[in-house]
Amino acid sequence: MANKPSVGFIGLGIMGLPMAGHILKAGYPLTVYNRTTSKTRSLEAEGAAVAASPREVAENSRMIITMVSDSPDVQEVVAGPDGVLDGVRPGSVVMDMSTISPQVERDLDRQLREKGCALVDAPVSGGDVGAQNATLAIMAGGDREAFDRAVPIFETMGKTITYCGPVGSGQLTKLCNQILVAVTLMGVSEALVFAGKNGLDQRVMVEAVKGGAAGSWQLSNLAPRVVDRDFAPGFMVDLIQKDLRLVMESGAAAQAALPATSLVNQLFRTSQARGEGLEGTQALAKVLEQLAGG
Ligand code: NAP
Repeated sequence: MANKPSVGFIGLGIMGLPMAGHILKAGYPLTVYNRTTSKTRSLEAEGAAVAASPREVAENSRMIITMVSDSPDVQEVVAGPDGVLDGVRPGSVVMDMSTISPQVERDLDRQLREKGCALVDAPVSGGDVGAQNATLAIMAGGDREAFDRAVPIFETMGKTITYCGPVGSGQLTKLCNQILVAVTLMGVSEALVFAGKNGLDQRVMVEAVKGGAAGSWQLSNLAPRVVDRDFAPGFMVDLIQKDLRLVMESGAAAQAALPATSLVNQLFRTSQARGEGLEGTQALAKVLEQLAGG
């Protein structure tokens, strides 16, 4: 344990709480911060120190993880009042595991470099189940040496850890992941509507095709939920819309046309307008059913 660096963890939400728990169980000295302090109690009982601010986390830690909601939230906990930048020591590494704008990561990296530190952007895929089971896919960007220092900590939380390139590359890779998820789900939803309107048993159709070239995680996991009319979230419509907004911003900046993603983005907007923003992404099927006359 003696040679394990001190770790700080900011943001103990659905994802952050189990992720921080894995780091503590692996024997790292851990300091945590959460805006809503009640969420720190379970980790405190297991031996984590609780800080009163992100600044205090940075003062106590060599490796600092942030896992909050969106770009302004990461900016607030890193660069805001009493933020990480106010307490960070030269040589520390900040690992942002939230899904946010690649450009914001580059800006924060520049500010951290002025303090002699580095940023690794390391968003994850695998959902709350992946966070609980320590099976997340972690896609990272940033200084290679800082990444190498972060790897043993990532290994406590994930099973696929990929170095993707300079800072921002982790977020860009995660956005590719979200393009694939969204566009595939659109195809799955369209096939379900087509099957239903043509009088096929949708369940039989899914079973027949899922082992072939059309197979996907969305088809195997989400199509059966649509057939069962189960629209409870795994991954919420409002959250994928946050990610698709980031995709559209980065696509515009790079002049990459995204015709399929744009269409799904608009159709998810209809889900939100129908009051289904807190439902799972499989609620997209209901929008396509509506377009097909119900
Ligand atoms: P969540 O349960 O809503 O938790 C968000 C966390 O961020 C909470 O600890 C919240 O504190 C904190 N936070 C938000 N804004 C803050 C601010 N301005 N200042 C300080 N703390 C702030 O969200 P989550 O599901 O854990 O998601 C976290 C990140 O992981 C997001 O970027 C999300 O896109 C990404 N992600 C999520 C999933 C998933 O399936 N859930 C999968 C992959 C990636 P409070 O407790 O005080 O609200």
